Amino acid sequence: MCELASKRNLAYIAVVAGCFAAGTLAGWTALAARVDHYAYDLMTQMTPAKNAAPQSAVVAIDEETLRARGGMRSIRPILTEALHQIAAAQPQAVALDVLLADKGDDAEDARLEAALRHTKNLILPCDLVDGAWEDPIPRFAGAAAAVGHVHPEVDRYDGVSREVSLEETVNHQRRWALALEAFRIARAQPITESPDDVSVGSTVIPAARADAGRPMLIRYLPSGVPTISALHVAENANLLRGKTVFLGVTALSAARDRLLNPYGQNVPGVEVHAHAFETMARGDFLQHSGDLAPLALSILFATAAGLTFALLSGYTAYAVAAVIILTSLAAPILFFRQGLVFPLFGPAAVAWLSTAGAATYQHFFVRRQLRRSESEKSRYQQAIHWAAHEMRTPLTAIQGSSEIMTNYSLPEAKQKQLSEMINSESKRLARLIQTFLDVERLAEGQMDLKREVFEAAEIVGTCMQRVEPLAQRKRITMSLDTAVEGTLTGDRELMEYALYNLLTNAVKYSPGETHVAVFAERNGQELRVSVRDQGIGMDSKEIKNIFKKFYRTKRAEQSGEVGTGIGLSIVEQIVTHHGGRMEVTSEPGKGSCFTMVLKSAIVRSSVAETINRRG
Ligand code: ADP
Repeated sequence: MCELASKRNLAYIAVVAGCFAAGTLAGWTALAARVDHYAYDLMTQMTPAKNAAPQSAVVAIDEETLRARGGMRSIRPILTEALHQIAAAQPQAVALDVLLADKGDDAEDARLEAALRHTKNLILPCDLVDGAWEDPIPRFAGAAAAVGHVHPEVDRYDGVSREVSLEETVNHQRRWALALEAFRIARAQPITESPDDVSVGSTVIPAARADAGRPMLIRYLPSGVPTISALHVAENANLLRGKTVFLGVTALSAARDRLLNPYGQNVPGVEVHAHAFETMARGDFLQHSGDLAPLALSILFATAAGLTFALLSGYTAYAVAAVIILTSLAAPILFFRQGLVFPLFGPAAVAWLSTAGAATYQHFFVRRQLRRSESEKSRYQQAIHWAAHEMRTPLTAIQGSSEIMTNYSLPEAKQKQLSEMINSESKRLARLIQTFLDVERLAEGQMDLKREVFEAAEIVGTCMQRVEPLAQRKRITMSLDTAVEGTLTGDRELMEYALYNLLTNAVKYSPGETHVAVFAERNGQELRVSVRDQGIGMDSKEIKNIFKKFYRTKRAEQSGEVGTGIGLSIVEQIVTHHGGRMEVTSEPGKGSCFTMVLKSAIVRSSVAETINRRG
């Protein structure tokens, strides 16, 4: 019992652990990544960055500027003019997001170089092209306080820009991000780094070194960074004073890097840099949770689901399960508010699967238990029914004989006959009770079979002799048509009971003056003992049911023969417990043949005894 319970517990733990593993694996799929990003965007919208006074501004080379100044062909004169006007507004620093990697018109380049040199705290961009850094040409680079990379970090599934890689290394040449260089120069502090973060002055930026550089999540300002057209810098100089200015192309027709942000807004690359700068300037960081914390959370959900359905039942269990699932959905939101980005899919999948798995297991377990106790109850009733029925005949004989003996003075010979009858019937009763108990215990798996070795021919002979009087009453002839060779190993008493049952059925369900044949066949290690009658027979549908307890065919009921319908179920149990099986062939109105297929060893010599009694 205890072993069974612990087996059941182990199976339950295995189910919940399997659900945990499946949920965790599901959390690593591409679908999970998409869902997590979608959830991230939703949470960003639900918990937007705090609106503080912006410390940066974007000067945009927009459609209007390009139209007025002759398009991208004139980008260098446009930059030259804009830089002069920006310098006049006295910004803290100026970060340029236009690659100046090629030589242009000499006169234009000279003027641009002068404007760059005139700009205080200038940061120039570089980008990754064909696996190498494309830096500004030396005459421009010489004017810059720093060069930062503008390599965009977009999600490979949905193209949304959520983070910036603060550090990129190519060919052993490391570049900090443009926004970080701008921040360092604006703060006039050096960059210090550890494996987990990057610091500028007192600002510690959580950006652990990973495969993709040092990703930093950008907290986009919902209201955006103040943006003015490059055409109107002079009028808006007050917006730029003391700020870090990001100068770049925003015109749809020309910007090479237009991205989506988590708000679903279309943002040009230069604005993305400004937002990354704002994130650092405000110290408003979001941090990835890493792998261990979500795993721990998943373990917690799976354990809670397992315990819930192990300890609680009914609606209470389902209510707690609902709370677990809701918690798995709410947890990422709560963590997000604390600045921690947790994946939603993995832990939620674990919570869902574990509660579903635990609930299903317990549901079926409870149902199985119910079924078992119901079948135990009905089995018990059936057993009582059977015992009462089977015991009635010997009891009646004993009762009748003893009454005759006490009420009448009988001749000695008759007295002897009656007392012999009482003796044999009470022995039969005792045997019956023993068989009954044995079969019950066998069915419950509480009994080991006796392992006697006996000759098959012996039990065939004994049983045929016992049935003989019944057969004679109906003038049914019986014959043992073949020699029965071989030994059987097992419980002789039970085997006798089984064969006796087949023989009595053959007699019971046959009309008078027919024949019952017993024959044996050997097939290697198998001994087939068959009982063939010429009785009422059965159709194939009936054959399927006869080994079920209490099943009786209509034909049998109508034959007027009494029965309980339990005998054959016991026969089958006995035969299967002996490692054998039952085979039945039958045809309505023509007769049946019941065969016990048993494992048997061949004995050295066995006397073939043919009993042939007709009439
Ligand atoms: P019982 O004989 O007490 O009804 P059994 O379990 O021995 O119960 O048999 C189950 C049913 O199988 C019988 O009621 C009868 O319908 C059918 N059956 C068994 N043996 C035979 C047979 N030799 N010929 C026809 N029907 C049989």
